[in-house]
Amino acid sequence: MKPDYRTILINPNYANYGCLSLLLILTLIVAIVGWDWVINGVVIFLALLIIVPVVGGLIFRWWLKANIMEDSCPVCGYTFAGFNNKQCRCPSCGETLMANHGNFERVTPEGTIDIDAVDVSVKNIDDNLDSK
Ligand SMILES: [Zn+2]
Repeated sequence: MKPDYRTILINPNYANYGCLSLLLILTLIVAIVGWDWVINGVVIFLALLIIVPVVGGLIFRWWLKANIMEDSCPVCGYTFAGFNNKQCRCPSCGETLMANHGNFERVTPEGTIDIDAVDVSVKNIDDNLDSK
């Protein structure tokens, strides 16, 4: 059986108090500030709903222009974008670069080659010959 609106509004056994609590909150707000400020509040809220994304978008675009730069990698010449004054890696060659005032610069000095030492286990040939 589907309950009618009076049952939902009044019966405390229903967990759904949304309708009643909304009525109470609206009554309290109207009693405290009056109808004109309730309507003003709705208008201000709708205006903010339109203004905030526009202003936020403009601020975000200004921030992007101030902080994003594009240059080519000094090692391989690949052109890509990065954040100003931040360390990054070239997506093409993997070189660690520092973005300084619109130019990428190498962090390691010119001519430096980064290598990882690999431990190679030694196998004695003479031992293998003696066992046979
Ligand atoms: Zn590169």
